[in-house]
Amino acid sequence: MALPLNDVKMNSRSLHDLTFDQMTALLVSEGLASLHAKTLWSTLHFRSLADPLSREDLSPPLRRWLVSNLSSGTWTLDVPPLNLDVPSGDGLTRKSLLKLTDNQEIETVIMSYDGRHTACISTQAGCAMGCVFCATGQMGFVRHLRPGEIVAQVHHARRVLVEQGKRLRNLVFMGMGEPLHNYDAVMTALDIITHTSGINIGPSKVSISTVGVVPGILRLAEEGRPYNLAVSLHAATDEERSAIVPANQRWPLPDLLAACRSYNAQTGRRIFFAWTLIHGVNDTPEHAQRVAELLRGLDAHVNLIPLNRTEGYEGVESAEEAANEFHRLLQEAGYPCTIRQRRGIDVAAGCGQLKAEKQRRRQAA
Ligand code: SF4
Repeated sequence: MALPLNDVKMNSRSLHDLTFDQMTALLVSEGLASLHAKTLWSTLHFRSLADPLSREDLSPPLRRWLVSNLSSGTWTLDVPPLNLDVPSGDGLTRKSLLKLTDNQEIETVIMSYDGRHTACISTQAGCAMGCVFCATGQMGFVRHLRPGEIVAQVHHARRVLVEQGKRLRNLVFMGMGEPLHNYDAVMTALDIITHTSGINIGPSKVSISTVGVVPGILRLAEEGRPYNLAVSLHAATDEERSAIVPANQRWPLPDLLAACRSYNAQTGRRIFFAWTLIHGVNDTPEHAQRVAELLRGLDAHVNLIPLNRTEGYEGVESAEEAANEFHRLLQEAGYPCTIRQRRGIDVAAGCGQLKAEKQRRRQAA
């Protein structure tokens, strides 16, 4: 549920934080017609204009209001400058480091495969979940992103793609941070992103990836949020999972699986389980059998992802034969299963890797 306008006014000054209804309420409360809110909404969110004043056909009252409020700092915009932009060698992945107003840096990745363009979005600066193999987890938690800072990444991706005559169609919330740890801001951002008069990305084209934040999964189901859910599993016993995903100590497998069953039942939606394949850690046939057992009865699809190596973790990706055997066993057990290709390794495409790489270079300089 988006915050009421008064709370938004107290907590934020960015026009990009506002849902359509909040923007309308704001402008009407300032004596402008609701039609002006529609114009401002389409300027910011349909046209993705970084500077709304660059639109020449703004009506005089709306232009005056914007000039007055933006120049005084009463309201601001979220248009984070680009600190680093790295295309992968194969041209299919492009990773951007965006700088926020407090100098925090977040990563947004644009991935283009089979003519489909997907942006991978960050929801926090750093992450509190501490997954041992993840560069963002190794950095620790800094802060939650506001809705406007999340939406700004989508606009960045749209602008990049529009320049190439392409259109952004899919979003995955798999960048830096745990989306369900920043639930309210992510849901408000999604209300903005999926609004049909603005960015208009269909809810079915949005995937939210969680490490297993049980209260968030239950809330998604209760609120009937129409997005795809991906749960990062990586291990099928509490002991093994807690060793690589510390959040498992807070939400152990029995609780997580119960929440997933409840999600399946309440929403009728399939859950996508992610399994990062780490050589010798979780990639044996016994592991595959255990995961098949664990997911029994769930409407589940398993995505197998060979590990993206990080500086702070000594594990390496599974051999191709081990990955293929794992895949075969899960399919044989009746689970739809896909081996995901690791893309953009040369641009440090695992979440947090580009930022970590940049920090290392700074320290070395
Ligand atoms: S994998 Fe996701 S949840 Fe785990 S530490 Fe990294 S960003 Fe956080």
